[in-house]
Amino acid sequence: MDFKLTEDQQLIRDTAKDFAQREIAPQAEEIDRSGTFPLHILRQMAGLGLMGLPIAEEYGGAGGDYTSYCLALEEITRACGSTGLTYEAHISLGCMPIYYYGTEEQKREYLPMLCSGESMGSFGLTEPEAGSDAGGTKTTAVLEDGEWVINGSKCFITNAGYAKFVTITAVTDRDKGTRGISDIVVPTDTPGFTVRSGYEKLGLHGSNTTELFFDDVRVPEKNLIGVRGEGYKQFLVVLDGGRIAIGAMGVGIAQACLDAALKYAKERCQFGRPIGKFQAIQFKLADMAMNIELARNMYLKAAWLKDTGQPYSLEANYAKLFGSEMATKAALEAIQIHGGYGYINEFPVGRYLRDSKLLEIGEGTSEVIRLVIARRLGL
Ligand SMILES: Cc1cc2nc3c(=O)[nH]c(=O)nc-3n(C[C@H](O)[C@H](O)[C@H](O)COP(=O)(O)OP(=O)(O)OC[C@H]3O[C@@H](n4cnc5c(N)ncnc54)[C@H](O)[C@@H]3O)c2cc1C
Repeated sequence: MDFKLTEDQQLIRDTAKDFAQREIAPQAEEIDRSGTFPLHILRQMAGLGLMGLPIAEEYGGAGGDYTSYCLALEEITRACGSTGLTYEAHISLGCMPIYYYGTEEQKREYLPMLCSGESMGSFGLTEPEAGSDAGGTKTTAVLEDGEWVINGSKCFITNAGYAKFVTITAVTDRDKGTRGISDIVVPTDTPGFTVRSGYEKLGLHGSNTTELFFDDVRVPEKNLIGVRGEGYKQFLVVLDGGRIAIGAMGVGIAQACLDAALKYAKERCQFGRPIGKFQAIQFKLADMAMNIELARNMYLKAAWLKDTGQPYSLEANYAKLFGSEMATKAALEAIQIHGGYGYINEFPVGRYLRDSKLLEIGEGTSEVIRLVIARRLGL
């Protein structure tokens, strides 16, 4: 076994960390408070080659591997959860369906504008009546005179308000169950397509979460991504990659919790000494550090399996489940270590808790991930 990162991976992690701590972290509180979409930061990230990091250079990407992307994502999320989610949805959900399943022509048409940051990547799967049960998709796409005519709606879709197109799932073949679902690219300026950004969220206030409405939206037949009727299978693969990335985000938020709590434990004095001298506080910090190390190893192993062409689905689910729940626990402990100040917004730990909770819900809830793992156990 070789746990050492390659020189390229180390360089990307260090570049992302330096940029995130210098440019993003000082703005994170304001982004959260004002709900500002961090477009100016994303433009800078595009300049660093991060927006197309794991995409081949011929399509405008940086030609990095998935491990490098996850390392960068951990550092971005450590600095700001909103920017982290925006970046994760852009790459894992926005770029990957086209990168994995698009034709050469589609890759050349869509990927360069994602890699340059001209368009944010966005993937519309969830519907008001179809969340965990994505097989219950109700949005339809009917082929008429060489065009897909799309009707229906989507909810909770990240980045669509800043996207030039969204890849959506729709039922193209009724009565075929999950084998009747396909992936279709829909430009956001198509007549009849409305994107509404109106949610008031618990956290991740700077990320863009939208509802999509399709009213007789017509797009060319060639906008189908991959194979007709295999959209369900395709997005399961896309989500597996996303789950590794969510694991990395969990590590990023938990690391921010440890950074803040450790600093506070060294500074805050009670009973004539820093609270970090009390064993009860030391044990909390020791557990946080150990769990972060474990979760980091889990997402890195899953990413390594993916990069080396080995099966990674189970490990991706482990990394997501453990990393996300670990982050929420770390945030709760960080608040506890801050005492009353942890409950006051002047300190960032409350934001970490609000942000980490989404990681237990998006791209498969903890319950759904446990079901997936249980199935792999033969249950
Ligand atoms: C901020 C944010 C960003 C998002 N971004 C995107 C995006 O970019 N694209 C996209 O397509 N979606 C996105 N989502 C949607 C997200 O993936 C869904 O919210 C999630 O999959 C859960 O679906 P649901 O909300 O309908 O919950 P439901 O499926 O209704 O689940 C409700 C509860 O029931 C539990 N449950 C459901 N089924 C079972 C079962 N069989 N066994 C045990 N428990 C079960 C769930 O675990 C959960 O606790 C986003 C959501 C949020 C909040």
